[in-house]
Amino acid sequence: MSELYRMLGQSGIDDDYLTGLTNKGIVKRAYKDIETADIKICDETEDGLTVTVDDVTCKLVMPLGESTCSCPSRSMCRHIITAFLYVKREFESEPEEVKQDENMSCSERTREAGELSTSAEKQTEDFSELLDYPLSTIKKQVGMNSFRTIYEHLIMENHAVITETSIVTVELENQGVKVKLLAPIEYSTCSCGRKEFCVHRAEAILRYQIYKEKISIENIAELIMSEGEEKLNKDGIITLAENIKQMLEEMISAGLARLSPELVSGCERFAIMCHNERLADFEKDFRTLSEQLRLYFGRHASFRIEKLLSDVIKLYGEANHIVHITDDREIYKLTERMRTEYVPSKPLDLVGMGYRHFKSQTGYEGEVIYFLEENTGKWYTYTNARPLYYEGKRAVRITGKEAAPWGLDCSMQELAQSRIHLSGCRVNQDNRLSSTSEAKAEIVGARAFTFDGVEKNSYNNFSQLFSEKFPTNASVWERNGYEQLVFIYPYKISEAFFDSVRQRFLMMLEDAWGNRIQAHIDYSNEESYNIKYLERLYQQIEKKKKKPACFFGKVYISEGMLKLYPIEYYEEQTTKADIFLSRKNVGKKKEQNGHTEEDKSANNMDNPEVEGLKDCLENCRNLMTQILQSGFTTVQAQTIEDIRRVQTTVLQYGLHYGGEMLGRLAEELEKRKHDMTIQGSEELVATFVRLNLYIIEALSKVKYDEVAWKFGHYEK
Ligand SMILES: [Zn+2]
Ligand SMILES: [Zn+2]
Repeated sequence: MSELYRMLGQSGIDDDYLTGLTNKGIVKRAYKDIETADIKICDETEDGLTVTVDDVTCKLVMPLGESTCSCPSRSMCRHIITAFLYVKREFESEPEEVKQDENMSCSERTREAGELSTSAEKQTEDFSELLDYPLSTIKKQVGMNSFRTIYEHLIMENHAVITETSIVTVELENQGVKVKLLAPIEYSTCSCGRKEFCVHRAEAILRYQIYKEKISIENIAELIMSEGEEKLNKDGIITLAENIKQMLEEMISAGLARLSPELVSGCERFAIMCHNERLADFEKDFRTLSEQLRLYFGRHASFRIEKLLSDVIKLYGEANHIVHITDDREIYKLTERMRTEYVPSKPLDLVGMGYRHFKSQTGYEGEVIYFLEENTGKWYTYTNARPLYYEGKRAVRITGKEAAPWGLDCSMQELAQSRIHLSGCRVNQDNRLSSTSEAKAEIVGARAFTFDGVEKNSYNNFSQLFSEKFPTNASVWERNGYEQLVFIYPYKISEAFFDSVRQRFLMMLEDAWGNRIQAHIDYSNEESYNIKYLERLYQQIEKKKKKPACFFGKVYISEGMLKLYPIEYYEEQTTKADIFLSRKNVGKKKEQNGHTEEDKSANNMDNPEVEGLKDCLENCRNLMTQILQSGFTTVQAQTIEDIRRVQTTVLQYGLHYGGEMLGRLAEELEKRKHDMTIQGSEELVATFVRLNLYIIEALSKVKYDEVAWKFGHYEK
């Protein structure tokens, strides 16, 4: 008996492995062929074990993937699979004593005995080649950019299913591909169809190595960061953060009143430096800050000192955080490459729910389309933006007539009311869809309201909306930025008017229980059409005494109430919402969420428990804005006195930390007043910042409680 015959016969190669080498169809076909074809096992030569299948000749070797065949096929053909299956079957039918190899060495015998004892459980395959495949080789094979993309996939924990049989199968669900890893690796296959080593094979190997704890994600991160130009400029970032901190320190201790308008361009320079280090959040914060300062120095009416104070405090807090980071990965995470990366997504069934025109502070104009995904009920957006000015000239206005992306033959406006099937698209962490040309979309129909996602986001009870969409445990910055996309079915509209003093349109939506949400649109040229539309809508509803239908928009907390930025209004007949809304609220009429029937008007009053505390905290904040303007050395004696007074009140409310910080601040300021020679203000700035962070957090909590109380969800 030839050696190869035995090796092939005893190999653990099974159908999974063969399917990995070729495909299911070929393996199936081969099973048929061993019954019907004329197959002969001939001799073993240097080229392998010769097996003839009808009139072709196969030379089988180990690993099987290197076998050859005389037929014209250049890859693994069905003859080789047929020949192998035949050899295996023949070998298995040999009598036991023939299967035993008299030449087998002692150690091999024991090893085989050992294997036999475990084979009852599960045959352990040798995947050491997969596990030992070096990271650096993978990186070289796919290139640095792809390697980084894979790393980001790993970080974001996209779904992958790993199964071990005679081969390792890794299904990368988000990318819709399945990789079959075989030893030797060259014979691995991927459903993307590429013959060569593709990014999916690379990701599959890495995932398998991580799964087996052979490597960790940190190993990959280290490799990325050690790369020449990819090297993270950690020292540069920390130095930048230190400079930012110092600049803000000087700004706070000197006071706005003493600073020159050059500070605006100073902040813009910082924004550019942040951009160069790819610190996207910081860049944005500096752009906002410089805009605020521009308003301040220009004595602009829309300037709000509270906003400037909180921007400064937030930036300082972040810079201070970076200065103290020691872990490279933490810093890597701050850089924009993490979050602006668009990763491939599964095919999506999207329903256009509306679109909005916008103009950003940073000089961009565009439109956003809001999509609801039918299967997951998740929101996605697509943004089409362009600079307002192009090469010094004002760009052509965006009108909604622009062409839709993804090869669709319609306008943006039409896309915003269509149902589409989108495949091959890329999505970032915020569920923003990219306009990649690889993506293809097809229109399936018009906007519809008949899927779960709509029901999940629809409300005719605002108290329920509040408790479901605004959870208590959010942090302050989160809470400030909270915006929830919802469908609102008000019971009535109690008032609508244009507030000409503050240049905004307000409309009060009420549910059947007397809970309120205020629709709010700040006036601008872009919004004038929407405002006119809503004014007309209100008049019609008034005149005909009919019930309003459905508003789609963003809900957020502001001015002690729930507010709505309306994006779209749908007529009743289009939504047919009554069916599921009545289902959703069966028996809810009586449950007054903390208020009794007669108590309806309570919904619109302020909570006396919260009011006093809110006043007190707002007093604190006002004192802080005074200090921000005057700086530390020229604080008025009156201000210090006021700080002491407010400290007493703060302590009465049981806010000990706040009280202590106020006391410390007053004391330090007093010292400086009497001794002008005190140098350095780092400590004092730190106290000032800590105190302000505390006030911001407390105020945010109070404002949240205020709304919660109105909706009957207030807990002391
Ligand atoms: Zn062949
Ligand atoms: Zn592939």
